[in-house]
Amino acid sequence: MNFDPKGKKVLVRVDFNVPLDEAFNITDDTRIRRALPTLRHILNGGGALIIMSHLGRPLKKLKDDGSIDTKSFTLRHIAPHLSDLLKVPVKFASSCIGDEAERMSDQLKAGEVLLLENTRFHKGETKGDEEMSRQLARLGDHYVNDAFGTAHRAHASTAGVAQFFGSGSKSFGFLMQAEIENANKVLLTPQRPVVAITGGAKVSDKLLLLEKLIDFADTVIVGGGMAYTFFKAQGGQIGDSICEEDKMELALGLLEKAKFKNTALLLPSDNVAADDFANEANQKIVDSMQIPDNWQGLDIGPQSIEEFSEAIRSAKTIIWNGPMGVFEFDRFAKGTNAIAQAVADATANGAFSLIGGGDSVAAIKKNGLDDAVSFVSTGGGAMLEYLEGKKLPGIKAIRD
Ligand code: AMP
Repeated sequence: MNFDPKGKKVLVRVDFNVPLDEAFNITDDTRIRRALPTLRHILNGGGALIIMSHLGRPLKKLKDDGSIDTKSFTLRHIAPHLSDLLKVPVKFASSCIGDEAERMSDQLKAGEVLLLENTRFHKGETKGDEEMSRQLARLGDHYVNDAFGTAHRAHASTAGVAQFFGSGSKSFGFLMQAEIENANKVLLTPQRPVVAITGGAKVSDKLLLLEKLIDFADTVIVGGGMAYTFFKAQGGQIGDSICEEDKMELALGLLEKAKFKNTALLLPSDNVAADDFANEANQKIVDSMQIPDNWQGLDIGPQSIEEFSEAIRSAKTIIWNGPMGVFEFDRFAKGTNAIAQAVADATANGAFSLIGGGDSVAAIKKNGLDDAVSFVSTGGGAMLEYLEGKKLPGIKAIRD
């Protein structure tokens, strides 16, 4: 953040889309904490802080009478905790645009904080509406985007608003900068060998990522539900395991591409199969190409854990996106937990490890290993798209 906040009204887009329980208590404040360095920098540097964020999808979850469920989706839920963390009172504007927000922003003094109501209470937000963007831009004289989690969306508060600020009047926040730098470290200047670990439910969600990883990694590990499409495509028996029949050709294409590029593509050699999609299901270890009828693979097996861990331990750069199995079921979390440990071990031995968002982040946290890896991304979809090589609108809008 190479600007002096002194005397400025700084409009900051953060990602405070945190999980809440039924009583609207914050159950995981990671995203708020990760924005604090930027917020404190502005306050300590003599700026006034105007903070905006979305929370949930209020327009997708309207009340029965068609109105917005403001009680569930208000950012007021966040204000007391934010105030505790920043150690300053947090004022609140009941709409992110309009007279009240403009008046409160006008009156805001250096060192003070104004939190705006959920940007997604307005239709214009997700449409990237120009008029909404213009109204938001009126609230500050410098714009900072620190919301990496929504950087892949061309919304009014993430991209549209930035068009109303000149190049000297808009910046990335520290978190956004760190996300970009760490992803670039992997993509542009990696120490080799690079081992990429992919998992999760569907090949279709990770197709572009796999293409890209096969291009630049030395080893690509494919675990989780995705792997069964690869087995079936090669003539394997996969029982009731999750499979995308219409992606089998593409899976074969990826295997071909890996051969051509001389990239090792590792699939699990064995699996933990279950006779039901449930934690309590009976389980047995089976060969990946011979999963019996009425059984489904829900985790990688012990042999695969060995093989994958060995590859991971030899890595100098690691990227991980997606669990090795249905890790939400404790009895099928062994593979994912073992991979988390292998990534931590490799990091302790000097490798750089990037946990690329979403469920792999949950797995790392569940194992208490968030401090044992190099960087944990706050962006699920955003990190996925960045790694795929896409230009993210929230990043582009600051650079243009
Ligand atoms: P993704 O969001 O694509 O990374 O997928 C994560 C989800 O994939 C998690 O909820 C896992 O439970 C699920 N998943 C992983 N392995 C399997 C599997 N073998 N069968 C069914 N679902 C799986």
